[in-house]
Amino acid sequence: MSKIYGLTGGIASGKTTVLDILADNGCKIFNADDIAREVVEVGTVGLNKIAASFGKNILLADGSLDRKKMSQIVFSDKLQLKKLTDITAPLIRQRILQIVENIHSLDDKVIYIFEIPLLFESDYQSYFDAVISIYVDSNTQLTRLMKRNNLDEQTAKKQISSQMSMLEKKKLADFVIDNSGNLDELKIEVKTLLKNL
Ligand code: ATP
Repeated sequence: MSKIYGLTGGIASGKTTVLDILADNGCKIFNADDIAREVVEVGTVGLNKIAASFGKNILLADGSLDRKKMSQIVFSDKLQLKKLTDITAPLIRQRILQIVENIHSLDDKVIYIFEIPLLFESDYQSYFDAVISIYVDSNTQLTRLMKRNNLDEQTAKKQISSQMSMLEKKKLADFVIDNSGNLDELKIEVKTLLKNL
């Protein structure tokens, strides 16, 4: 039975950077953002439900989802956001489970990794053979987030504090990658993890 590991971490913790290193080391990567896009592609049950619920104006001329309009609608309206996630969340969960089951039915030497930013918040732990959290100390997280997204300190701190803390994610994980150091140190962290999986 092939193994598949969940991978998570806070905003700007280094998920994308770690996934690139894992892929360079032969791992096969999946991520929840791709699945979220897949379940609302043209012709899917997801997109049909969204059009039925929000109206045909939510579609572009080519029949695809007008993402800009959708995010404007849900951005500051919790009820609309709930209406959307009530449609998409079960479809995303169903697809993730299908991929995980499919991998469990394989028997190869590949290490499969599934990145889910809200893995703990959405209770996905039990789907995976183990869960890996990326941890970064709070000052480094703040500095990286401000730099990458060109944010002032107050806005970046607000974004960080709206999420589950890194310490909490670290506590809940089976394996932890510490990304508080430089990129060379991160590569060593990832190689050590791969030996332990
Ligand atoms: P998000 O989920 O918020 O999109 P993320 O968890 O995928 O973020 P990354 O985009 O990988 O995080 O990293 C955040 C920023 O920090 C990026 O600009 C990245 O280049 C930088 N970064 C990540 N790890 C390191 C490191 N070890 N040393 C220096 N910079 C790093």
